[in-house]
Amino acid sequence: MTIPVLPQSPEIAPQPADPLDHLTDRLFHRMGADGVYARTALYEDMVERLAALITRHREPGTEVMRFPPVMSRAQLEKSGYLKSFPNLLGCVCGLHGTERDINAAVSRFDAGGDWTTSLSPADLVLSPAACYPVYPIAASRGAPPKGGLRFDVAADCFRREPSRHLDRLQSFRMREYVCIGTPNDVSAFRERWMVRAQAIARDLGLSFRVDQASDLFFGRVGQMKAVSQKQQSLKFELLVPLRSEDQPTACMSFNYHREHFGTTWDIVDANGEPAHTGCVAFGMDRLAVAMFHTHGTEQNKWPSPVREILGLERQAVVAD
Ligand code: ATP
Ligand code: ZN
Ligand code: MG
Repeated sequence: MTIPVLPQSPEIAPQPADPLDHLTDRLFHRMGADGVYARTALYEDMVERLAALITRHREPGTEVMRFPPVMSRAQLEKSGYLKSFPNLLGCVCGLHGTERDINAAVSRFDAGGDWTTSLSPADLVLSPAACYPVYPIAASRGAPPKGGLRFDVAADCFRREPSRHLDRLQSFRMREYVCIGTPNDVSAFRERWMVRAQAIARDLGLSFRVDQASDLFFGRVGQMKAVSQKQQSLKFELLVPLRSEDQPTACMSFNYHREHFGTTWDIVDANGEPAHTGCVAFGMDRLAVAMFHTHGTEQNKWPSPVREILGLERQAVVAD
């Protein structure tokens, strides 16, 4: 691909084209905000096929739950989210006053003023990850059985990190497998999934590597948390070079929370110790973008084994 060389002036230097921009028109419709897109049929079909593929790899004895895009604010506060990522959280707010208060806010808007000063927070936040609501539900059922509990969860997630890059959305789909049990249950679960996830990525024809990672915790204290997370190998990512080899994009993550959620929600394991938890998260939108970036937008030209694994290969018509 050749990029036209535009005359440069220091004031209006052209925006460097992002390597994923060529996909925008085939996959998305803009909705007037960075990182928030309407999706085309081509794109949505791919997300569904990827979801079906991930379902086919589900371990036996895994309970399926689907969550709405919002969750209890109190539960997220109790989970410690504000200590780690307060900058990313989206909180639902509304006009909660009397009819008079609400009318006053609307009248202010009608007169060209600001109605949002009348907003107050609701008891809901936009879910920043799919697995948060599962821990209190599991806790309400008592101690996990021997071998631990496994869940398959998914939600539309929100993170306030506006970006023009197609692989960093504010609103995106996350699918997760979660394990709650003893440290051994959770370590074994994560090991199994790190192997299985690489097989899935290979089947999809993606270039990738798996590496240790840390979260971008907020603030200066956050930097210390990130170091400790890496030292304890609590997070791995499956990275796909979408934008560049140097800065690959995490399309899946393998997380070990140790006893954090077990202690928070008072879940004890089969040995009476605080339960350990872990999750493997699939960024459904990133995976779909990675597929089109890797193989192009003309699916009939995709490698045949990839088409087959996704159910895109037309069934051979058998004449009798
Ligand atoms: P990154 O380091 O790229 O910000 P993350 O460590 O914050 O990723 P996780 O919290 O592990 O990501 O979330 C699980 C998965 O959700 C990620 O591996 C990724 O595939 C997807 N994901 C996370 N943030 C975004 C986003 N802003 N847009 C699209 N997908 C995302
Ligand atoms: Zn999770
Ligand atoms: Mg992030």
